[in-house]
Amino acid sequence: MDSPIQGLHHVTATVDQAQADLDFCIETLGLRLVKKTVNFDNHLVYHFYYGDERGTPGTVWTTFPYKGHGVPVGSNGAGQITVTSFSVPAGSLGWWKARLKARGVAVDDAPPRFGEESVVCVDPSGLSIELVATGRDLRRPWTRDVGADAAIRGLHSVTMTIASPAETIVFMTDLLGFKTVDEIEGRTRLAVNGDEPGKAIDIVHAPGAPRGRNGLGTVHHVAMAVPAADDQLRMREELLRWGAKVTEVRDRQYFQSIYFREPGGVLFEIATVRPGFEVDESAAWLGRDLKLPPWEEPNRSEIEAGLDAIVYR
Ligand code: ZN
Repeated sequence: MDSPIQGLHHVTATVDQAQADLDFCIETLGLRLVKKTVNFDNHLVYHFYYGDERGTPGTVWTTFPYKGHGVPVGSNGAGQITVTSFSVPAGSLGWWKARLKARGVAVDDAPPRFGEESVVCVDPSGLSIELVATGRDLRRPWTRDVGADAAIRGLHSVTMTIASPAETIVFMTDLLGFKTVDEIEGRTRLAVNGDEPGKAIDIVHAPGAPRGRNGLGTVHHVAMAVPAADDQLRMREELLRWGAKVTEVRDRQYFQSIYFREPGGVLFEIATVRPGFEVDESAAWLGRDLKLPPWEEPNRSEIEAGLDAIVYR
């Protein structure tokens, strides 16, 4: 079927400490902080959005730093996104390995897959972050901290660990418009609207694997991008007809969202491209001030007093 889904929109993780997360994402990975706000479902906790200059859908990595809020450390397993992959230029992996090692980040070569080399490192919260070298990513990177010959272009893909992959694959192809684009033993690559970086989800077949537990150091969900609100509503209707439990449309200030679980248990979101991160601050100033949605503004002084002090360039 023709799908309104353009590709990935963002990936969101539950992380540990706010400052360590900022340092890793900005200083080490070289991403731009494009929004500093709070978790709209728990305003005691920050919500950081990182990405390219404008936080273009498909480049966005977001985190909830939950340290000190009673969330236990999570564990990886079935029904989870277990690796988040970013794309970097072909030939830059040696530079990345040296940079990560110099900063005390554990990094290893990943086995080559689907014709692309990659390295995998562990972020301060224990998340597996992969850098995939590719010559196929034409997106313009944010280059304040890492030069264009190595800078992250955006999300490459996510890897989901799934106990019964067949049901997940049928769901993603029939309802979301993904296609199987490649396959190796134990792993299927699905992609939507083409197969360039930023459009793929890998399914690792893990029959009998114990279920993962959400918590610190685990990915919370992956979001896919649709152009407009009516595309989202149409997809919502279709998902409901199929029998999925789908949330109402939620206003996330920078996009509108619906959420549902695929049959393997991974939380999926469909998010609109508009209005984007410039809706409440200018492109030059993105990420500098604490931004709150209108309904949280009356609580600003209480919210600010409760959040950890952080510093970043
Ligand atoms: Zn989300």
